[in-house]
Amino acid sequence: MSTVTERGAGGPAVAGGATKNAAPEEFQALYDHVITCGKCGFCQPVCPIFRATGREANVARGKVALFRNMLEDRTELEPDTKDAFDNCLLCRACTEACFSAVKTDKVVVSYRHAYAGRFGRGMIQRAVFHHLLPRPRLMRGLVRTVWALRRTGIPDLLRRTGVIGMINPKIQRAMELGGGTPGALLTSRIKKRGKAAAGTAPAADAPLVGYWISCGYNYVLPEVGIATLDVLEALGNRVAPLDNCCCGLAAYGYGDVEAAKELARENLRRIGDVDRFTAIVSECGSCSGHLKEYAELLADDPEWLARAEALKAKMRSFSEFVQETGGLSAGAAATGSEAAGGIGAPGTKIIVTYHESCHLGKRYQNVTAQPRQILRSLDGYEFREAMESDSCCGAAGTYGILHPETSGAIIDRKTGFIQDTGATVVATECPSCMMQLSYGLKRAGSTAKVKNISELCAEELRGRSK
Ligand code: SF4
Ligand code: SF4
Repeated sequence: MSTVTERGAGGPAVAGGATKNAAPEEFQALYDHVITCGKCGFCQPVCPIFRATGREANVARGKVALFRNMLEDRTELEPDTKDAFDNCLLCRACTEACFSAVKTDKVVVSYRHAYAGRFGRGMIQRAVFHHLLPRPRLMRGLVRTVWALRRTGIPDLLRRTGVIGMINPKIQRAMELGGGTPGALLTSRIKKRGKAAAGTAPAADAPLVGYWISCGYNYVLPEVGIATLDVLEALGNRVAPLDNCCCGLAAYGYGDVEAAKELARENLRRIGDVDRFTAIVSECGSCSGHLKEYAELLADDPEWLARAEALKAKMRSFSEFVQETGGLSAGAAATGSEAAGGIGAPGTKIIVTYHESCHLGKRYQNVTAQPRQILRSLDGYEFREAMESDSCCGAAGTYGILHPETSGAIIDRKTGFIQDTGATVVATECPSCMMQLSYGLKRAGSTAKVKNISELCAEELRGRSK
């Protein structure tokens, strides 16, 4: 997914095997880019890992210097270089702060890809990325089996008594993050779902919106997906849930670029002709952000590039789509209700704050104003901005599971700022952030609830239609 310039003629002379472990060939494509780092350190104070830990070694400046040293044959690609590149959330805060706009995320993904190429990738990881994620039916079967096991109560008992933590703290952390009540998957709930929840079925000629089914909502937070469908329909759209598989962001983040490309092509195949939709909507900022970047990922694949660009033109995050089509007032018109009359009586407004997921915000999709506009438009809520609301929460796919201490420090800092606002509701638009925020608030002893923006919109529209 590199858009940076190819290595110029003045690059380092690494040919001829100057060391026993020469820099991987793919690093050369980033040479002209990494040499623009002036070592100014502007990337340091904005890095969530640095903010939480004070560790200089893991900020962008250090990673870029290490990468350049490998390119210039001063350091080899060895296991002791891995930690710096493992410790990255791919949040792009450093790129935003950098006068050269050094794309640290591209450097990190290139390193992870090359590292796996040289030292191998675990069998389970390969099986998941290449064989399980492209097959949603197989994935659903596996998740149902895990849920059935959890319903026996035995795994949670083992977690609560600390047995799982003793065996493997990472599994313990994963269970704490995905600790919801096992129930029917979103795909099953959609099949059973009745007509528009607002009571007015969209007209047969209403705009057709494709609904992207994110793994996080399908397997862990299905109630969010139902709320999203309710809102899209209440706003006067017909909604067609897509038969998509995982977007591939996790594979990309692990540097398995081949699997990420396979998943992108599989999804483009499954979605088919996007022209039948007015838009394709996702209330997962990570999915919508990554789907919009399929064109970059498939830039060297002319057969699929045009389809990826067509998808990008149709792709909208939930907030982006709602605001682009008239905001929640369009819902009042569609349901025939008065616009006024929300869920809260005067003087009893609920304080809500917002966490901007990295892949939704200015560093990926630049969807920043729309979620806040929606929150300010809710009758029953008073919106308060939190400090560092656009800073990564520390979830970053599986980072929270693989680096529980650092991720814990990152979320503790964030929950502190959230608590400073006095909010009892935290809104966001990403399932991974939702789980991490819930975990952090619980850990801080807070009773504040985490909700997706679509859930708040569904509540609002229900209140207005009464
Ligand atoms: S802000 Fe950019 S130029 Fe400055 S040290 Fe960081 S990566 Fe290098
Ligand atoms: S992408 Fe984020 S976590 Fe990674 S170095 Fe940059 S600021 Fe730090």
